[in-house]
Amino acid sequence: MFLAVCAVGKRWIGEKMNLQAVLNYGKNELLKADITEAPVDAWELLEYVCDIDKNYYYLHLSDEVPEEHFTRYQDLIRKRAAHTPVQYLTGYAYFMGLKLMVNECVLIPRFDTEILVEQVLKLIKGNERILDMCTGSGCILLSLMHERSGISGTGADISGEALRVAEKNAENLGIHCELIQSDLFSQISGKYDIIVSNPPYIATKVIEVLDKEVKDHEPLLALDGMEDGLHFYRRIVKEAGDCLKDGGYLCFEIGFDQGDAVSGLMQEAGYRDVKIIRDLSGLDRVVIGGKQSHV
Ligand code: GLN
Repeated sequence: MFLAVCAVGKRWIGEKMNLQAVLNYGKNELLKADITEAPVDAWELLEYVCDIDKNYYYLHLSDEVPEEHFTRYQDLIRKRAAHTPVQYLTGYAYFMGLKLMVNECVLIPRFDTEILVEQVLKLIKGNERILDMCTGSGCILLSLMHERSGISGTGADISGEALRVAEKNAENLGIHCELIQSDLFSQISGKYDIIVSNPPYIATKVIEVLDKEVKDHEPLLALDGMEDGLHFYRRIVKEAGDCLKDGGYLCFEIGFDQGDAVSGLMQEAGYRDVKIIRDLSGLDRVVIGGKQSHV
């Protein structure tokens, strides 16, 4: 077909492009921009724009792509080449098998965070009350509630825009949870059996060396853990006790090098059986501790 035309002109100039040519265009543009997962991203954007799956693609390689689809695809490829994450372009991400809406007001749910969810699931016996502090898209809270129908859940976040995303996700999944705009525990009352949190934990000076996808597009508010990255762990450990029932658990996701520091903070505050759990790469990823009556 007319690959040369699209590569040079990058405009629709009358000739039609087929599915295969459009996908190749996307791959080439992303490779030129040094996007690591160029083929995967080019495919995901094509799948999104044309609403097709792999089966359809292979059976219809030579089908013409409607002009408006190609124009839309070019626009998304341009944005991806400028390092906007695919998930912000399509507006969704998968987490614990759930399709969740995301936008630039929330972190893109990470596979690593599934480790935290899996550990918390092990603590749930029936109708626990759960608080997800810094809920963002609601990925942690909603996947817990999706897996365990007996629990009740509250998601808290300082960002009203993030809470709107969490609310939409809850609605799409048909889950009833409470969402509260709160600077950590300032607006939280009552007692919970489990408090779970993936707070901002990147030290401020480390943010500048992160991938452009993260530092230029994900919300700084959800990343920045201040001077040493531990700011929110200190505050949450200090404040959580009042909202945690005796015998309850405080569960954190942590950065790979924060295991000792965060478990130390929890032990100093009187939490018992504090343990560090590693992720599949063998890196410290989760810290969990139980509340003793005097915490
Ligand atoms: N709990 C959300 C997530 O894991 C948001 C985390 C955050 O804002 N730091 O994606």
